[in-house]
Amino acid sequence: MDFDYDLFVIGGGSGGVRAARLTAMGGQKVALAEESRMGGTCVIRGCVPKKLMVYASEYPEAIEMAKQYGWDASSGSFDWSAFQSHLGSELTRLEGAYEGNAEKAGVTIYKQRARLADPHTVELADGTTKTAKHILIATGGRPVRPDMPGAEHGIVSDDLFDMPKLPGRMLIVGAGYIGCEFACIFNGLGVDVSMYIRKAQILRGFDDEARGHVADCMQQRGVTLHTGCAPTAIEKRGDKIWVKGSNGHEEEVDTLLWAIGRKPNTDGLGLEDLGVKFSRGGAIEVDEYGQTAVPSIYALGDVIGRVELTPVAIREAVAFHETVFKGNPTKMDYDLIPSATFTQPELASCGLTEEQAEEQEPSLVYATAFRPMQTAFAGGAERVLFKMIVSKETDKVLGAHIVGPSAAEMIQFVAVAMKMGATKADFDRTCAVHPSMAEEMVTMKDPVRVLA
Ligand code: NAP
Repeated sequence: MDFDYDLFVIGGGSGGVRAARLTAMGGQKVALAEESRMGGTCVIRGCVPKKLMVYASEYPEAIEMAKQYGWDASSGSFDWSAFQSHLGSELTRLEGAYEGNAEKAGVTIYKQRARLADPHTVELADGTTKTAKHILIATGGRPVRPDMPGAEHGIVSDDLFDMPKLPGRMLIVGAGYIGCEFACIFNGLGVDVSMYIRKAQILRGFDDEARGHVADCMQQRGVTLHTGCAPTAIEKRGDKIWVKGSNGHEEEVDTLLWAIGRKPNTDGLGLEDLGVKFSRGGAIEVDEYGQTAVPSIYALGDVIGRVELTPVAIREAVAFHETVFKGNPTKMDYDLIPSATFTQPELASCGLTEEQAEEQEPSLVYATAFRPMQTAFAGGAERVLFKMIVSKETDKVLGAHIVGPSAAEMIQFVAVAMKMGATKADFDRTCAVHPSMAEEMVTMKDPVRVLA
């Protein structure tokens, strides 16, 4: 049977665009449909604008520090609309680059919503249909709101970049990556930020000691954390939002941000009717090669709900392309994926947490916390944390956790060593770079704890 395309991709985010480009560059006929802006969550309303906001929010501290280094500096005030307009132009530039690169590779882009009519047919919003030998669903996810009265008065992370002005007070519900990163950003920009955390600690899933360290630093920097607390009542009162928490705390804020997780974008794609299966959380179920229960339909990225990180979606796209178009069945390798939360200070991790290692095998924990040279000179009290978990039996590094400035930059290279199977002895025989923070990773001598 003749198809219009070899591959039709639905979703123009990091994963979808990579799969489309690779396949088109390999000489196949490829189309992609995107209903919103090319670049998807990461580029348009996630990682990229978030990281630029992190940079913006770090200047007051840098200026304060500059004074301690002898500079006659003053912080002035932050112009949200000037930043917003610069951010808008940058995102438009990146969107253009995504679109241009895909088109240059030979991908035909349809800027409209698409749904599946049958296992080989995509129906576009304008009513036209396109057939394809393979269809790839890369529609990503979206932030969720809770189902409670008053929830509509809150915003979600997608809305943050378009806020007409900076709020004076902000309440963030949820303490995962998104909640914690934006709490630090807005705190840095001078907003009075509090957080409702339904459990005892922020950043579930990260090493307990590391997330405790971040929570302490966030509080020292001025973020108010209400642990064991969820909203029980919300009302709009004039131009404020009144929120009551399960701990009895009440507050009137200018902005309420829901950061309670994301859900896969699968609504209205017509997948159920074709026999595609879903997990309990609504993610598309795929096998190790990204194939759904319908053989011509594949899926990757946040919509399969495995590891919701841009670089993972990109690698899933490469594996998909190898498997389907290069006759080289390739499984995505989910082992030892490093990640970072761009909180202030940053938290970056690779491998097992101390709690996971304790369950897995006897291990040694190495850790050091100290005031780094740059901020100590300026009178800063904040400590950085370096932590390594090592197998007692094999000496292999099982986990690494860093809290401090540039933690994300440092973990990238620790992750390379870990991926190569580095042992503690390999780190020990590596010469330190001095003076640096990272040298602590190769100079930790004695374990602080032994996990039996
Ligand atoms: P998340 O990491 O799953 O965190 C959700 C938070 O909301 C948790 O603290 C959770 O508490 C809480 N929560 C969930 N339901 C709630 C409810 N009904 N009421 C009150 N609190 C509730 O989600 P996210 O922060 O929205 O991020 C989504 C995904 O995006 C992440 O998993 C991550 O993969 C990705 N992401 C990555 C980065 C990065 O790499 N830097 C940045 C942003 C996003 P519990 O802990 O009690 O469950």
